[in-house]
Amino acid sequence: MSVETRKQPAVTGTLPTELIRLEGVTKRFGDNTVLDGLDLSVDTGRHVTLIGPSGSGKTTILRLLMTLAQPDEGTITVDGQRLFPAPERQVREVRKKIGMVFQQFNLFPNMSVLRNLTEAPVRVLGLSKDEAEARARELLDLVGLADKCDAKPTRLSGGQQQRVAIARALAMRPRVLLLDEVTSALDPELVAGVLDLLRDIARSTDITMLCVTHEMGFARDISDQVLMFDAGRVIESGPPEQIFGDPEQRRTREFISAVL
Ligand code: ADP
Repeated sequence: MSVETRKQPAVTGTLPTELIRLEGVTKRFGDNTVLDGLDLSVDTGRHVTLIGPSGSGKTTILRLLMTLAQPDEGTITVDGQRLFPAPERQVREVRKKIGMVFQQFNLFPNMSVLRNLTEAPVRVLGLSKDEAEARARELLDLVGLADKCDAKPTRLSGGQQQRVAIARALAMRPRVLLLDEVTSALDPELVAGVLDLLRDIARSTDITMLCVTHEMGFARDISDQVLMFDAGRVIESGPPEQIFGDPEQRRTREFISAVL
């Protein structure tokens, strides 16, 4: 099955370029075939959202892109370079183009907020400490936490920790941001603030986003394209107005009316 993102220019006047391509990707855990020959592509600058029931394989796609797991078959290409299969050195290079924000924040608990943001840019990108700190302070300002540079993450609320995690991912200047259910571990009153921040980032930057979410309002707002997953397959894809307003597949209709 082939699922293409809409072929529209990411920036007016330029031709669309494909940033992510999965071809024939199969992933099994023991006897459980989670993805079965999946084809999927995301163009530069697009905001693509994966929706569907729990266990349908959405997070697995993000984990494959982050090289936290490997496909059993198929190829993954990012920005024209092979991520899988590829030699280790190339994987390290391609990985720099991808940032991810997890459900559980995954911050380094023993480091200050500032150090959480400077560690990888210094170690992986080779930025000087001063450059990395300047970038980190700018990003903490963007996410509304300029006054928390010296705090340890554990002293922050869940919403604040997730803002730090978003800033940390952006500190690597990735081409694509992967968002895995980033509000599902938050207390309900903290969800809106984090989603508003992501809406702002989607609007004000040219970063490509691939999101897994159960927040249908958010998906509707930020997506150029929504992919409906079921049992490791994309059963329907289209612009949010179509998927949420007039889905073709019965399974999509049932899913959306159950979660809305
Ligand atoms: P979703 O994000 O759509 O909820 P996932 O990608 O998390 O789905 O999971 C898809 C399926 O893969 C589930 O059946 C899950 O139990 C299984 N799975 C995911 N990760 C692992 C793992 N590390 N080991 C075994 N099974 C896994």
